[in-house]
Amino acid sequence: MPELPEVETLVRELKPHVIGKTIHKVIIYRSLPILPLKPGKFIQSVESKIIVDLTRRAKYLIFHLKPELYLLTHLRMTGKFLLKNHLKLPGKYHRLWFHLGKQKLLVFEDVRCLGKMELATKVTISQKLSRLGAEPLSKKLNISYFHKRCNETIRPIKAVLMDQSKIAGIGNIYASEILFKAGIHPERQAKFLNPLERKQIIQTIKLILKKAIQLQGTTVSDFRRVDDKSGRFQNFLNVYGKVGQPCPKCAQLIQRIVQYQRSTFFCPHCQH
Ligand SMILES: [Zn+2]
Repeated sequence: MPELPEVETLVRELKPHVIGKTIHKVIIYRSLPILPLKPGKFIQSVESKIIVDLTRRAKYLIFHLKPELYLLTHLRMTGKFLLKNHLKLPGKYHRLWFHLGKQKLLVFEDVRCLGKMELATKVTISQKLSRLGAEPLSKKLNISYFHKRCNETIRPIKAVLMDQSKIAGIGNIYASEILFKAGIHPERQAKFLNPLERKQIIQTIKLILKKAIQLQGTTVSDFRRVDDKSGRFQNFLNVYGKVGQPCPKCAQLIQRIVQYQRSTFFCPHCQH
C-alpha cells in the first residue's frame, strides 16, 4: 500500500502537470466501490472545474478545484495516477479518465478497486482531516506530542506508529523499517518505552521518511510513479519482506511475526 513517501512522490510529480488545468471531461469506466457518488453526479460536479492546487495529508491526495470543491483520493492497495498522452482505449484496470486538454490525460488505475475518491466542501474536508494525527514531518510530531500518544494506549509501538489518528501516513513497510533503525522491538508496549527510546523513534521516523521521499518511495509490489517508473527506497530496506535473510547489522536471521493481521519484520538480536 502506498504510504506517505509514495503519496508525496505522486503529488510532487503530478503537480506541474495538473495545476492550472481544466478538467474538460471525465470518463468513468468503473465507479463502485471507488466513488460513493453516483457517476452522473460526480461528472457533473467535477467537469469544467480548474485544478488550482494538489496537496497531501497523510495518505490522501487532495485536488483543490475551482469553483471551490475538493477531490479527496485514497489509493489504498493498488490505486495509482498515471499521466498519459492521448489514448484510444482504456487499459484493463483504468477506472477513471480525466481529460485535461491538449490530449493530456490523467488516468486513475486500480487493479483491486479499493481506492476511494470523494468530493468535499471546505467544511467537510476539514472535519474529515481533523480526525487524522500529526504529520510525521511536521513540527507537531515532537517529543511531547509523542509522549501523550504513547502514554494513552496499551498497544505495541508498531500499532501506534500505524495508527492514523496518532501519526498519519506511516504504514506497514515504514513501521518495520523505523523500528529496526531505532533498535526497538515491535512488540514493546508504547507506554513502557523510556524517553530516550521515544526520542530515538521520532528522529528515525523523520529520517527514514525524508530519505524515502528523496528516493521517490518504495516499490515492492504495486507502487508506480506517474510515469509508471518505480521508486528506489526498496533498495535500502533492511528488514521489510526479508524474513530468513541475514540482518545487515548482525547477520542473525530476520524474523516475521503477525501483529493486528499485518506482517512485522524485525531482527531479534538488534531490536530490544
Ligand atoms: Zn541484527
